[in-house]
Amino acid sequence: MQKIYLDYAATTPVDKKVLDAMLPYFSEEFGNAMSVHGFGQRALEAVDDARAKAALFFRANPSEIIFTSGATESNNLVVKGSLRSYNSIARKTTEKPHIITTAFEHHCVLDACKFAQKDGLAEVTFISPNKEGLISVKDIKAAIKPTTILISVMYVNNEIGTVQPIAEIGKLLKKINAERAIEKLPRISFHTDATQGVNYFNCDVDEIGVDLLSMSAHKIYGPKGVGLLYVRKGTPIKRIQDGGDQEYKMRAGTHNVPGIVGLGQAINAIKTPATQKKIKEITALRDYLIKRVLKEIPKSYLNGSAEKRSPNNANFRFDDVEGEGLILSLDLDGIAGSTGSACSSGALDPSHVLLSLGLKHEQAHGSLRLTIGKHTTKKELDIAIAKTKEVVKRLRKISGNVLADFQ
Ligand code: PMP
Repeated sequence: MQKIYLDYAATTPVDKKVLDAMLPYFSEEFGNAMSVHGFGQRALEAVDDARAKAALFFRANPSEIIFTSGATESNNLVVKGSLRSYNSIARKTTEKPHIITTAFEHHCVLDACKFAQKDGLAEVTFISPNKEGLISVKDIKAAIKPTTILISVMYVNNEIGTVQPIAEIGKLLKKINAERAIEKLPRISFHTDATQGVNYFNCDVDEIGVDLLSMSAHKIYGPKGVGLLYVRKGTPIKRIQDGGDQEYKMRAGTHNVPGIVGLGQAINAIKTPATQKKIKEITALRDYLIKRVLKEIPKSYLNGSAEKRSPNNANFRFDDVEGEGLILSLDLDGIAGSTGSACSSGALDPSHVLLSLGLKHEQAHGSLRLTIGKHTTKKELDIAIAKTKEVVKRLRKISGNVLADFQ
């Protein structure tokens, strides 16, 4: 049976070059990067080489790159580590620190904030996007309080692929932080979860004005279980995992040397002309997919802005169709898509992202996310479109909602 993978936002296959670079660090060069002997030093060299590659990509200093187990850990470190730092500073006031984030972040940011609020450690404002899935800079500005210490806004939403105005928020905060310094108010750290943005958008940390940035290697054709957090020098943040002195004492635990090597290799490939050419092809394929689905399937809609959208993301909604049924039927035909994000599908709750756009519960249940990548072909999309048409029609028939004939 055919196998068509259209779930690149969930994860990507490891590039051959990335795998080749990693392999020696499982067996021959297996040293612990913290050991002083030759085995350890060679492992440390490999970690430092990956760090230099990541620093070059983000135009950061190597000492500002902290390797983690992935974006989930990086994002937890941002929220909990910022609060830990704030609470460790002796303050005259007992005011609770305030965090601003969005209602459609990945659960690792959202839940870290919700628990901090529940535990009485922070006050949190959750900004809702507009119906196009875009956060307004004005709303962020209006939510800032004297006690605000952290603003966390994702770069690209993982479900609907909408691109947030990170550079604009960065610019605003630069001005606001300069004013706050005079008033002796706490500096606001600006974090972006760039997990879905790294492949496609500007991640020069100075140009976009972020203090903290998270990502995972497996979304960029690297291995799973490794990621990083960029931490601008001087940003108030404390480690949350106690133990060894790895990663400038910011992340205790033995380095995942092969994973880190893979991350370095994968990130290095992004700015090459070959990848940049691929992005153009991916964008054209995405547009082809969206155009055909909306034209050929009655009562189908695109979730999220068509313009401010990641090159690889198409997220559809079909009236009177359950997303789970659609995904399972497509899977039987060898087509891998998703409904909601991979982390929350399996739970039958409606997507918190779609609900945040103002969609009704039944609408938030009927979505299909197809995300494409560098191995996707037009032929694969043609098959996927034909199958989606068939399945939507069949599911509507079962539910007694036969709509106008398909084009
Ligand atoms: N943030 C975003 C935007 C994501 O898409 C993901 C992965 N779905 C994560 C965080 C978590 O990444 P990981 O599971 O690799 O820790």
